[in-house]
Amino acid sequence: MSYKAPTEKDLSAFEGIVGKEYATMDEAITASYLAKSVMGLESQIPDVVLRPKYVEEIRKILLYCTEEKIAVSPISAGLSGGFACPTIKPAGVLLDLGRMDRILEIDEANRYAIIEPGVTNGQLWAYMHKNHPDWAPPIADGAPPAATVMGDAIDRGFSLYTSSVGPQGDNFMCAQIVFPNGDVVKTGSWALPGAKPFYKYGLGPDMWSFLMGSQGAFGVVTKAAVKIYPHPEHKTVVAWGMSNPYDMQDVTLELGHKEFGVAHNTVMVQGGNYPLVMTRWPKDKIPHEYEFFEKIGIPEWWMNWEIWAQTQKEFDNVVETINNHCKDFAANRAKDGAAMKPWELHPKQIESRMKKPNKIAIPYSFWEAGFLFITWYTPWNECAHFAEMYNERMEHYGFPPVMWIASIERCRQAICMPIICFDSTKQSDFEKVQDLNRDTTEYGLKQGWLNYRPDPYIHIEAYYDAAMYWKYLRAFKKLVDPSMIMHPGRLALP
Ligand SMILES: Cc1cc2nc3c(=O)[nH]c(=O)nc-3n(C[C@H](O)[C@H](O)[C@H](O)COP(=O)(O)OP(=O)(O)OC[C@H]3O[C@@H](n4cnc5c(N)ncnc54)[C@H](O)[C@@H]3O)c2cc1C
Repeated sequence: MSYKAPTEKDLSAFEGIVGKEYATMDEAITASYLAKSVMGLESQIPDVVLRPKYVEEIRKILLYCTEEKIAVSPISAGLSGGFACPTIKPAGVLLDLGRMDRILEIDEANRYAIIEPGVTNGQLWAYMHKNHPDWAPPIADGAPPAATVMGDAIDRGFSLYTSSVGPQGDNFMCAQIVFPNGDVVKTGSWALPGAKPFYKYGLGPDMWSFLMGSQGAFGVVTKAAVKIYPHPEHKTVVAWGMSNPYDMQDVTLELGHKEFGVAHNTVMVQGGNYPLVMTRWPKDKIPHEYEFFEKIGIPEWWMNWEIWAQTQKEFDNVVETINNHCKDFAANRAKDGAAMKPWELHPKQIESRMKKPNKIAIPYSFWEAGFLFITWYTPWNECAHFAEMYNERMEHYGFPPVMWIASIERCRQAICMPIICFDSTKQSDFEKVQDLNRDTTEYGLKQGWLNYRPDPYIHIEAYYDAAMYWKYLRAFKKLVDPSMIMHPGRLALP
């Protein structure tokens, strides 16, 4: 598939659509978007950056690029990390949706917010805090405040109450999408003019879910309705430490099975190993041996349960159930029961853990500047196997074995996130990251595990294996994007 590189003539056409101020080929600006893609190893400098404000501007841009066969990659904030972001070869137009940042409506009775793509986690959280303090919007738990709520859904991410309510995609009710064929489509109950965004499955088969995980490869989402949940009065974090990932996995799954009255109250269930603490510091300024971390009270592995409850009685019941269950598990079923201990968190640790949006993931750049999340979904009862395999491979390639694991929907899935901390000034490290990625992907795909944001070269092999599914993705793409201009290379489309 070949694409046209945009020319000065195309730039004037774009200026005619969005205005001179919001269309540029200035290299200083286009290159700054490369720096924004914190962890996109494959990313390229776009040829043109366009910053539309209106849906009709987007429709005209897509129609023009369809006609001219110019590649278009949309970003809401461009901070998705991993491999989703921004332009890959051929670069083409980068559509920055940051100016579309209106919070259009908050409906407390029906429990939704209507937002545009540029609405960031920090912006929505602050707006709700000020104007609707009893309500929590579905922001990504650890993503930077400058990342967006919309980008997280399109990327199939997770929210701050993901263990209770499911993946971020499940928090999205209805959307408005502009396809490159010029159609503007509304999904769910919104398809019916005048209907509120109260029902995702609206007029039959659910088109919006088809766009979850599409990573900008089908069309541009210009508006969406997201669920909001009330803050309950009682909140805390309970943590247990253990010596190995299997005890972490098994005790957490047993608690996940206590659905109503217990697991539904645990909004964020996340754990990991001591290198998660270690790599938040410069490599040469902290001991690397576990003995040091043991002395300062950090378990080798741990699991945290963030609890939200309406009443003191309900709160006490959930805390007690978790603690009693962990004790019983340690005494009777653990591989290493003697090592299982409650991890008494300081109130300041609990307070900082529950602060949203948190900046928990950002310090991984301190270790050696470069860091990359390579995120996988597995069945919960396979996450320890994943961790053991991946940690061994990270050490083999000379990276610290940093592993973070969280529950989605009460342990129906595990989101497993090795954090690769590497020296971004060394070309040889980039190559090692890719070798590690290929090595573990070949293994992971054989286990039936799924990658969060498929890397355009390595993880994409999943699509060759899932050939029938891929066939229908391609057919849908052809329907909505006849010249295949949207985010080429994503999802092996085209
Ligand atoms: C330090 C750090 C921590 C993170 N922690 C978390 C976390 O805790 N939970 C989590 O889920 N994620 C996390 N992430 C990943 C990421 O931040 C989130 O997924 C984020 O919300 C992405 O939003 P964005 O606006 O930056 O997306 P973008 O990078 O702009 O876009 C993501 C993808 O969707 C496409 N896209 C974006 N907007 C549109 C649109 N309007 N229409 C069509 N396609 C579009 C893009 O082309 C891209 O492929 C983290 C990332 C970083 C860098």
